[in-house]
Amino acid sequence: MALHEAASAHGDRSRRMEGVSEKRVLLASPRGYCAGVDRAVVAVEKALDTYGAPVYVRKEIVHNKHVVETLEERGAIFVNETDEVPEGKLVIFSAHGVSPAVHAEAAARNLKTIDATCPLVTKVHKEVVRFAKQDYDILLIGHEGHEEVEGTSGEAPDHVQIVNGPDDVDSVTIRDPEKVVWLSQTTLSVDETMQTVDRLRANLPLLQNPPSDDICYATQNRQVAVKKLAPDADLMIVVGSANSSNSVRLVEVALEYGAKAAYRIDRYTEVRDQWFEGVTTVGVSSGASVPEILVDDLLKDLARRGYGTIEEVRTATEDLMFSLPKELRKDLKAASDCDTK
Ligand code: SF4
Repeated sequence: MALHEAASAHGDRSRRMEGVSEKRVLLASPRGYCAGVDRAVVAVEKALDTYGAPVYVRKEIVHNKHVVETLEERGAIFVNETDEVPEGKLVIFSAHGVSPAVHAEAAARNLKTIDATCPLVTKVHKEVVRFAKQDYDILLIGHEGHEEVEGTSGEAPDHVQIVNGPDDVDSVTIRDPEKVVWLSQTTLSVDETMQTVDRLRANLPLLQNPPSDDICYATQNRQVAVKKLAPDADLMIVVGSANSSNSVRLVEVALEYGAKAAYRIDRYTEVRDQWFEGVTTVGVSSGASVPEILVDDLLKDLARRGYGTIEEVRTATEDLMFSLPKELRKDLKAASDCDTK
């Protein structure tokens, strides 16, 4: 089964397994794949189908070990930089986005590119370009070194300062207090970001807000669901990789909102027996780059441990979908036109 099918086939549910006891699982919904991740993973799958292996991908297409390993088995080759891609070959840019410099490097090496940057990341890139053109100082709240932040700040490096969090605020310097705006990485904690903004605004009363939310719908929805169930959770388990910003934030949010303990795991084999001492209610969620099959594996493991009763905690319904990258759509259309001739 393809990764994106695995994600949707097990979609929304509210179910009770046999052997009900007082032990239970509160299953957050929404959780798992977002529209941007689904699009990026399908783009690599379709590229493999259309052009054949190998297909080069700059950076992890999405931050999830299982997804990356599964695509590698099918012939995707993940590289850190475009100079690792042989001249003239195809390279796909990941959902996190790239700076104009990376596009230029690819063009210089005559690479064919498919840009799987999430449209909600592209939206933030466009905001940077727009404010830089008006000569604003742009305070980009986000994690230094994260691929998305590198790509976004690379749109206008002379105008962007990265603000890692509230503790970074005092080192910010600006030219004109009337021309300063904050923007953010898409996968941050909403609460922590607003603390940073409040600290910034204390020094910069005319600080402008982004034209619309930069923290994306998927990040916000997953945090809201975890906030709702966390007060009842003796233990919270979040499925997601260590380099997945939004997964790591879910663990922090769970602890902040009352979960007695919270852990992030890549897969169920990392669950530890000692976590369950005195635990009646286990909260479960997964980051936006996590296929549902990994959550299913965890739920089976929890059922084996006596936590077979599952109650869904739904706080939103998502139906957003993005069309595939335009370069790929064009080639898919050309291939289907050939087939029908
Ligand atoms: S987490 Fe948000 S910004 Fe990132 S890929 Fe998903 S929808 Fe796009």
